[in-house]
Amino acid sequence: MKILITGGAGFVGSHLAEACLKRGDEVYIMDDLSTGTLENIRHLQEHAGHKERLFVTIDTVLNHDKLSELVDTCDQVFHLAAAVGVRYIIENPLSSITTNVRGTEVVLELCNKFKKKILLASTSEVYGKQNRAPLRESDDCVYGPSTKSRWSYAAAKLMDEFTGLAYFRTKKLPVIIVRLFNTVGPRQTGRYGMVVPRFVKQAVENETMTVYGDGAQSRTFTHVLDVVECMIRLMETPAAVGEVVNVGGVEEISILEMAKRIKARVGSSSEIRLVPYSEIFPRDFEDMHRRVPCLEKLKSLIGITPKRTLEEILDDVIAFERDEG
Ligand code: UDP
Repeated sequence: MKILITGGAGFVGSHLAEACLKRGDEVYIMDDLSTGTLENIRHLQEHAGHKERLFVTIDTVLNHDKLSELVDTCDQVFHLAAAVGVRYIIENPLSSITTNVRGTEVVLELCNKFKKKILLASTSEVYGKQNRAPLRESDDCVYGPSTKSRWSYAAAKLMDEFTGLAYFRTKKLPVIIVRLFNTVGPRQTGRYGMVVPRFVKQAVENETMTVYGDGAQSRTFTHVLDVVECMIRLMETPAAVGEVVNVGGVEEISILEMAKRIKARVGSSSEIRLVPYSEIFPRDFEDMHRRVPCLEKLKSLIGITPKRTLEEILDDVIAFERDEG
């Protein structure tokens, strides 16, 4: 099988590329390296059994002609190219909307032209301030005002979902949409705001661990290898076509508790400091209090849900950070 992964040099994309190469696929990566890095895929490009089946194009999905060639060549498309990370979105409000809205439009248009099955990576961010737990795919999405640019990410990804579903309904294009809940694991960088790599780096370096607000906000974290397995299985599941599906972990944890857990596991002497939101994001930020997925739909479609525990997730991230450091 020939697989196109947009955003394949990113954190999730690079793990997906590796899994596809391991099962014998030819893998085509398109990535503009805006947040991805060649470092993420170097081990694949140097791997004796993988490198001859890996083709890397450094370009944006907004390059219609280049993308057209790649979609035409491949059998399936995983669309992961996106501007991600709360910090990144707030610092790059315009380019992130362009990438996330126009980029997905181009990918869908070309998948429709060549009739290629596509899995769109969306995010639990689309639920916005909906505090219900667990969150079902049919729940309302609740956003704050457009003056807070954080919500542009949720709105843009929701627009991607609408567009994907419209292609499915009007053109019968096989589209699957996954909403990822705080994916973490080796190779994720804290540079764009993600909390686990940030805390782990701070703890390993014995620096102050920065918990925003009162730390009572909670998340469920998902190991990237579980996410990749679920995405591959969903792609192979006919009943998943035309569906929006949560992919997330099961263990809810507050951010303050997460900081304490990481500090203890690293054996760090870091101080844990509560930092008021106003100190970090003076204007554009509003946090989500709680975010827990309902996984019934995922289970009913593919028979499994993410299984790696928070301890396994943290051990893998800590080992990676120590290697890097
Ligand atoms: N967070 C934090 N310290 C940091 C980075 C993030 O306390 O250095 C908090 C953030 O306010 C949020 C949670 O951790 O409540 C998860 O943040 P992240 O950006 O990783 O994901 P998201 O907000 O998209 O769930």
